[in-house]
Amino acid sequence: MTDIRIRFDGISKSYGPLKVVDNLSLDIAKGEFVSLLGPSGSGKTTLLMMLAGFEAPTEGRIFVDGRAVNDVPTYRRDMGVVFQNYALFPHRTIAENVAFPLRMRGVAKAEIAERVTRALDMVQLSALRDRWPAQLSGGQQQRVALARALVFEPRVVLMDEPLGALDKQLREQMQLDIRALHNRLGLTIVFVTHDQSEALTMSDRIAVFNKGKIEQIGSPRVIYDEPKTRFVAEFIGETN
Ligand code: ADP
Repeated sequence: MTDIRIRFDGISKSYGPLKVVDNLSLDIAKGEFVSLLGPSGSGKTTLLMMLAGFEAPTEGRIFVDGRAVNDVPTYRRDMGVVFQNYALFPHRTIAENVAFPLRMRGVAKAEIAERVTRALDMVQLSALRDRWPAQLSGGQQQRVALARALVFEPRVVLMDEPLGALDKQLREQMQLDIRALHNRLGLTIVFVTHDQSEALTMSDRIAVFNKGKIEQIGSPRVIYDEPKTRFVAEFIGETN
């Protein structure tokens, strides 16, 4: 099938005797928004780190657009990455923060200027480009981190609890903003969260993790209305 963007094929990851991802297979389609949802320690971040290239699988292969990426260096994977702890450089302006990854890779000045302008437009922060991080709200700072991840215009964006540090109202606004961005740019997004309501609101599909395996995968409606196991029913039924 040609519309598969990401394929995890029999992926396992062990740290010494501890198997944190256990023979997991998962296909993600082009333009799909998939959440990896589950309790702390269930292997979600580890799977994302392997996709990003920060960790190598112990077993199995990862394909992006049909090409095995196991040996492709992190910086060549054409993915943007956003974490919860998205440190911005305090002594650089917003525009300079977004330009940073481009400078690191020696992109020409004129192209940097164009790309930074486009990335800031995507997250609606152009008006604040010359401010310092400390002058921005938490939500605006998170949008800067998002712009930095988008500055190479990747087709795939990986997010690990990106909204965890925000208060409820901002969090809900950012959920809408990220979802809108996903629709507008046709991005494939893999989104790690332990928050059921967040996954239910944002995703095309949710993969519910338990001990390094996917317990159930399906649309939010199916996960919510037709949990296949007691674990899924109890996890979805919990309130944060
Ligand atoms: P989640 O994202 O679902 O909270 P993680 O993927 O972060 O889960 O972690 C899964 C398990 O792997 C946890 O038990 C964690 O302690 C362990 N783990 C993660 N990274 C390492 C590491 N570098 N060395 C040893 N154990 C690790």
